[in-house]
Amino acid sequence: MSGNLNCLRCGAEMEFIAREKIQLGQTGWLLGDLGNLLAGALETAIFTCPKCGKLEFFRGDFFDDEGEEPGRIAQTRCPQCGVLYEMDYPKCPRCGAKNENW
Ligand SMILES: [Zn+2]
Ligand SMILES: [Zn+2]
Repeated sequence: MSGNLNCLRCGAEMEFIAREKIQLGQTGWLLGDLGNLLAGALETAIFTCPKCGKLEFFRGDFFDDEGEEPGRIAQTRCPQCGVLYEMDYPKCPRCGAKNENW
């Protein structure tokens, strides 16, 4: 896991807990109007602070973007089909090519 997401409250390094699919409609409190732009289930990435217990939710699809957002999960790009996927998969979920960084 990448380790560059720090707690907004106490500055400790936050720990990745899980990716969860949540049903839109239950998440208005979390996402506000964003929920209206999306359909169906939303994948979220959940982090916690080991020091103060703060929880942070991120939209899972943010982690598919290129860029330097804090909290980005370590990913690798498939040399064969170009899809971006998480480093801890042994192979590409799209085409099955071996993950050379695994
Ligand atoms: Zn904290
Ligand atoms: Zn691939």
